[in-house]
Amino acid sequence: MTSTIVTPPSGSAVAAGPTHAGARRPVESRDPATGEVFRRWDSADEAAVAMAVARARNAQPQWAARSPEERAEVIERFRAALFRRREEVAALITREAGKPLVDALGADVTVTLDFAAWVAGAAPRFLRGGWRGVAGLTMWRKRVRVERSPLGVVGIIAPWNYPFFLPASCALPVLACGNAAIIKPSEFTPGSAAIIEELFREASLPDGLLQVIQGDGVTGAALVRAGVDKMMFTGGEAAGRKVAIACAEQLIPCSLELGGSDAAIVLADADVRYAADGLAWTRFSNAGQTCVAPKRIFVEAPAYDAFVAAMSRAVRALKVGPGAQESSEVGPLIRPHAKSTIAAQCEDAVSRGATIAAQADAPAGDCFFPPTLLTGVDDTMRVLQEETFGPLLPVMKVRDAEEAITRANRSEFGLSASVWTTDRARGLAVAKRLQAGTVLINDAIAVVGMADVPYGGVKSSGMGRMHGIAGLEDCVHSTPVVDDRFATWRQAWWFGYGPRHVEGVRAFQRVAHGRTIGERLSGLAGTVRLVFARKRQS
Ligand code: NAD
Repeated sequence: MTSTIVTPPSGSAVAAGPTHAGARRPVESRDPATGEVFRRWDSADEAAVAMAVARARNAQPQWAARSPEERAEVIERFRAALFRRREEVAALITREAGKPLVDALGADVTVTLDFAAWVAGAAPRFLRGGWRGVAGLTMWRKRVRVERSPLGVVGIIAPWNYPFFLPASCALPVLACGNAAIIKPSEFTPGSAAIIEELFREASLPDGLLQVIQGDGVTGAALVRAGVDKMMFTGGEAAGRKVAIACAEQLIPCSLELGGSDAAIVLADADVRYAADGLAWTRFSNAGQTCVAPKRIFVEAPAYDAFVAAMSRAVRALKVGPGAQESSEVGPLIRPHAKSTIAAQCEDAVSRGATIAAQADAPAGDCFFPPTLLTGVDDTMRVLQEETFGPLLPVMKVRDAEEAITRANRSEFGLSASVWTTDRARGLAVAKRLQAGTVLINDAIAVVGMADVPYGGVKSSGMGRMHGIAGLEDCVHSTPVVDDRFATWRQAWWFGYGPRHVEGVRAFQRVAHGRTIGERLSGLAGTVRLVFARKRQS
C-alpha cells in the first residue's frame, strides 16, 4: 500500500502518495520546523481498512505454517535492509518528526536494529517450548507443554514521537509469532512508518502480512472495528480508553501503552551534577515529547539548592533548533498547536506562584518552546496534574524520601520512575515502593531500548506488556497440552473408587504436605506399596 519514499526536489510539487480505494482526506508528511509539506498520503476509509484486514487474513495462515526459524530469517533480512538504509531512514525521521539526526539514528533506528536482533533470536526459542512436569496431585503421572499459536491479524496504532521505532517494535514480535500486522501510524508522521512496509518487502515478507494504512483517529477507530484479533495501541490516554472500550465490546484483547507523568526522586546523597545532566537529557531530548521521560522531579531538601543550580546550568546550555541543523539538541514540537498547550500549562503554574528558574534560548516560531525549569510548584498545578508533553520540567523540594514516594505515587499515571542516588541499597528500597511499570536507578528512558526487558505501564499509563518474553506472550494464544508422563502408566483417577484410591490420596498428601521428614517418607513408602500392589494385581 505504500511506494518508495521519494523526496521531491526543492521547488517541485508535493510527491503523490499511494492511493487507497475510497480515500478520505489525505494526511501529510510535513517538516515541523518549517511547515513544509513534502508528501501527501491518502487516508484509508472504512472499506480500505476492511480490505487490508481481508488481505492480512488471507495471507496469515501460510505464514503461521512456516517454522519459527524461517520467520526469524525474514526478521533478520528486515534488520539487514534497515542497516543498509539506516541513514536514509534516519534522515526521513529527522525531517518528518523534527528530531536531531543523532536521536533519529539512535532512538529510532539503532534501537529497532537491536530489537529485531533480539526478536529473531528469542522468538524461535520461545515458540519451540518443550515438555515439563506439572505441579500438584498429578505430578507423577502427567507432563505438559505449552503450544503457542498466533492470534491472527493484529492491529497496531502508533503515535508520532518515535514514529519508526514504536510501530516497528510492535510489528516485529507480532510477525515473528506468525501473525499478520496492520499498522496505522500517526497522521503527523505517516512516512516514517510507511518505510517499515518497504523494508519488510525488501526482506521478502509475503504480501499482505505487514500493511501500513494511513489516516487519523477515524481510520484508527475503523481498524479497531474491522474484525482484527488484537489491538496494540500506543498513544494518549483519551484515545486509549476509546480503543479499550471498542475492544471490550468485541471481546478482543488489547494492549495499551499510554501517557505518563514519570517521577524522578533525587536523594540527598545523589551525585547532583550527574543527576542534573541525566535528567536534563532524558527530559528534554526529543523536545520533551517522550512518554517515558521524567516529568516531575522530587529532590530531598539537603540536595535541592545544588540540584536546581546544576539543572539551571544544564537547561540554559541546551541548543534548540531544527533537527536538521547539526548543532541542535532540542528540536521543534511535532504537532501544530502543541506549543499553546505547553505554554498554557506553564502559565497556569506561574500565575499560581511558580517561578521559571531557568530557560534555554529558542528560535522564534510556533513550533519551538524553550526548555523551561519550574520551581515553587505545588500538586494542584496543571504541570503535576496532567502529562506535560513538551520541554517543561517542574522541580519540587521534599522533606525526605517518604514525602517524595507519597507525592510520586499520587499521580494517576505510572509509566516509569527513577531514583537518583549513590547508595544502591537505598535506591532499591525506594524503587520497590514506586507505582510504575519500570523503575530505573540513576537513569531514565533507557528501558525502552532494552529489547529483553518487559515494558509497559500501571494505572492510567496502560496495560499489557511489550518487549521481552512477556511481550512475546502477548502475541500468541498459549495452549497447554497435557499428556501422560509414562506411556505405560495411563490410568487417571477414574470411577471405580476403592480403598486403594483413598490410600493413594492420603499417601500423596503426606509426601507433598507432610510437616516432618518422617511424615513425608511414610507417604513415599505408602505410594511405593500401592504401586507394587497395583502391579501385582495387573
Ligand atoms: P494520540 O492518542 O492522539 O494518537 C495516537 C494514535 O491514535 C494516532 O495514530 C491517532 O491517529 C490514533 N487515534 C486517535 N484517536 C483514536 C481513536 N478514537 N481510535 C483509534 N485510534 C485513534 O496520541 P499522540 O498525540 O499521537 O501521542 C502522544 C501520547 O502518546 C502521549 O500521551 C504519550 O505519552 C503517549 N505515548 C505513550 C507511549 C508508551 O509507550 N506508553 C509511547 C509513546 C507515546
